[in-house]
Amino acid sequence: MTSLLAGLNPAQLEAVTLPRLSVLILAGAGSGKTRVLTTRIAYLIQSGQVSPNGILAVTFTNKAAREMMVRIASMLPINTRGMWIGTFHGLCHRMLRAHYQHAGLPQTFQIFDVSDQQAVIKRLLKTLAVDEKAYPPRQVQWFINHAKEEGLRAARVEVHDRFTQTMQHVYDAYEVLCRREGIVDFAELLLRCYELLAQHETLRNHYRERFSHILVDEFQDTNRLQYQWLKLLAGMGLPNPAAVFAVGDDDQSIYAFRGARAGNMQDFERDFAVQKIIKLEQNYRSHGNILEAANALIEHNRGRLGKNLWTAEGQGEPVRVYNAMTDFDEAAFIVDEVKALHAEGVALSDMALLYRSNAQSRVLEHSLFNAALSYRVYGGMRFYERQEIKHALAYLRLIAHPDDDQALLRVINFPPRGIGARSLEQLQDASRLQHTSLWATALNKCGGEQAAMAEQRTLKKGLPSFVSLILTMQRACADLPLPETIRHVLAQSGLIDHYQAEREGADRLENLNELINAATSFVHEAEDDSLMAFLSHASLEGGEHQADYHQDALQLMTVHSAKGLEFHTVFLSGLEEGLFPHENSRNEANGLEEERRLMYVATTRARRRLYLSFSQSRMLHGQTHYNVPSRFINEIPEHLLKWLQPSSKGSGGSFRWTSPQGEFSTANHLTNQTTNHSMRAGRTPADPTAQPYAWRIGQTVSHEKFGTGVIINYEGQGVDMRVQVQFSRAGTKWLLLEYAKLTPL
Ligand code: ATP
Ligand code: MG
Repeated sequence: MTSLLAGLNPAQLEAVTLPRLSVLILAGAGSGKTRVLTTRIAYLIQSGQVSPNGILAVTFTNKAAREMMVRIASMLPINTRGMWIGTFHGLCHRMLRAHYQHAGLPQTFQIFDVSDQQAVIKRLLKTLAVDEKAYPPRQVQWFINHAKEEGLRAARVEVHDRFTQTMQHVYDAYEVLCRREGIVDFAELLLRCYELLAQHETLRNHYRERFSHILVDEFQDTNRLQYQWLKLLAGMGLPNPAAVFAVGDDDQSIYAFRGARAGNMQDFERDFAVQKIIKLEQNYRSHGNILEAANALIEHNRGRLGKNLWTAEGQGEPVRVYNAMTDFDEAAFIVDEVKALHAEGVALSDMALLYRSNAQSRVLEHSLFNAALSYRVYGGMRFYERQEIKHALAYLRLIAHPDDDQALLRVINFPPRGIGARSLEQLQDASRLQHTSLWATALNKCGGEQAAMAEQRTLKKGLPSFVSLILTMQRACADLPLPETIRHVLAQSGLIDHYQAEREGADRLENLNELINAATSFVHEAEDDSLMAFLSHASLEGGEHQADYHQDALQLMTVHSAKGLEFHTVFLSGLEEGLFPHENSRNEANGLEEERRLMYVATTRARRRLYLSFSQSRMLHGQTHYNVPSRFINEIPEHLLKWLQPSSKGSGGSFRWTSPQGEFSTANHLTNQTTNHSMRAGRTPADPTAQPYAWRIGQTVSHEKFGTGVIINYEGQGVDMRVQVQFSRAGTKWLLLEYAKLTPL
């Protein structure tokens, strides 16, 4: 026990060992809130006050939930697998699976992620003949999710005008469709689970008695529905409610745009009869300069609850600021610094590259890839959202639950099997008339299962071939372990052949193979390793288990997904007005303050070193933008900053090419002029002397990672010029000439 509590400061110790009461820990970044929360779980179990079954802990991301389990497992010799530790979505999902009948769901209900939901809404707008221009699908999606987060079903949405009337009408039709197809979207997980508990007293009592301790991390970001769910689960207002241990930081509230209410903290004090509020003021994470910068920044916000964070660590290094010419220059700078730090012994996984918006990651990824640095992207174009993965999952979903119309529409003619738009329309019309799923309609059209199977050998194309394919796969996979099921489906569906024949299908094939790996590790880690469980996991996890989970890799993510995490070094890129603070924040009340809290979250992720960078020009969504540095940089006192500038040495260069089949060349436009002291690695792409090198189609080249190959094509110009190289071992790749480090042979 003493070892568990050793090292805690007095306020932390008090929080960990409090009696069974509801409490609020209000404290700034890095003050040990999460550590206190996990230590309290271990303490409660070890001191015999509760069994692992009696605990429910909620965090905000899957990554955080996993880290919490690891921390608890390191403190106690128990198996944390069965413990109720997860995200709101994850925990609600678990409850719904266990009580699907009470929740009015089919056993095989499917979870739809954001992009699935959008596709369904698009389809629905078409069916209802609602004009997509007047009612953009994303806006409809927002309307529906927002209503659900407020706990409102379509029937209860207030209608003020024609616009809300149409929205309500679509929402209503969406509910009908979800019910028919057995679909549950993210917001529905919560709402349905809330209703489950609200409507079934026995269940509610069961869980209330079971979970005597409920612990919530990042409490400032809970929305209204999550808050109500917690109240219900804890049995607030009833005799002997659960003790709710909530930790949060009003300065890190960054989900107002998704309905989060920092006001929940005040409500919590009242509703849960909180007698004790504990403040933690010592920051254990960051060196002095970083903490001071973060404190100075957040002081520009008004209406804060107010905290005073200090650190016993020294000042440490100054915050480094890099002023880049272009986004490529910025990326190249980061690559160099990462390499240098890595060479000094900092693990890649202890460095994070953060950005405000996902769209910014493309250029960064490109440079990292060309520099052969391992990296992992959290969020963004997530693994499970990639086209080929979606196709594969659609086949798997049809095996588990063929009435899933969305999955059927996705792959009925992919790979192409000659089912045209007209036959598809006929199928959809028939399904509407008969009120049956597309699958049931298709099966019917083919004369039932047996007829469809009998025709299998003679038909290579058309609807019957699709129907018999799904039936055959269902049978073949019935007894296969999960990874084998996936292997089988990838091959039999024709996806592998399809991408093999595609010119740039190599990456997609790699991703498909990665899906088998993901399933393999899932089988090792999960309690329930069924296909259904895996499909839910794919929707909920959003790819956090993607490629090379255990490999040391630089961490790329948006600032939102970095919440709660910490790294030795943090690179915060794209600090430009319009990007960060984001331009949308201008139109919203309190928008700027929320951006500043986001900036506070970003800066407080760094333990030892923090880089802030911005670029004078940037390509975004196909256009070059010329931006001014973010105001947030100005809000940090100058004495904490160290400005790094590219020196003006070198003249830059121009790009020249002749005919597509002839010669083309590039000078090292940026790379030879950025030789300041911090760039130890020094970029030397094709030619360190920076003389334009004349490349030509047909030229043999060598690449550090891919070996030798031949240039077969090129596109773009200036810094964006890319060449396509046919490598003898690594296949065909498009590479950015500027950074690919190709050597002519
Ligand atoms: P955030 O607001 O960013 O979520 P937090 O308040 O949850 O931060 P933690 O992540 O729990 O903070 O802790 C920050 C770091 O400080 C961690 O590395 C943690 O192990 C360390 N830490 C916390 N308390 C102590 C302590 N008493 N002694 C030494 N290290 C500590
Ligand atoms: Mg935390």
